[in-house]
Amino acid sequence: MKEESIIVSACLLGVNCKYSGENNFSDKVKEICKGKKVIPVCPEQLGGMSTPRNPAEIINGTGKEVLEKNAKVIDNKGRDVTAYFIKGAEETFKIAKLFNCKKAILKAKSPSCGVGEIYNGTFSKTLVKGNGVTAEILKKNGIEIITELY
Ligand code: SF4
Repeated sequence: MKEESIIVSACLLGVNCKYSGENNFSDKVKEICKGKKVIPVCPEQLGGMSTPRNPAEIINGTGKEVLEKNAKVIDNKGRDVTAYFIKGAEETFKIAKLFNCKKAILKAKSPSCGVGEIYNGTFSKTLVKGNGVTAEILKKNGIEIITELY
């Protein structure tokens, strides 16, 4: 049987892939990952976005609607970045399959990585129920998703 690995949002491990060029390092995630095979990923970079980049949020929906082509991801300058987010989700899922990942620890609230709640598209730190685009594709394919918060 192939050894199982865990997908982890790279920013939680200290990689400076966040839109601002910084990271979201989490001691808790570092502890959880100790002794495990970890695959760090940043879906937004995998989708072809540069770092730093403008922050983006899903407008009128969640990752589910984005994957169904019923909602878009727009950055704070009004640029449509949906295609990057979908590509990043697909590439992350490809990596998850390659490494037989059954679980992912993802950054809370992100339009890519958020689990259970994400920002609502108004750039006002307001949350709406739902998953980010990458979290949704992983969940849809049977991968357990959690965040650094819960
Ligand atoms: S939350 Fe996800 S997409 Fe955003 S920087 Fe972290 S790993 Fe990349």
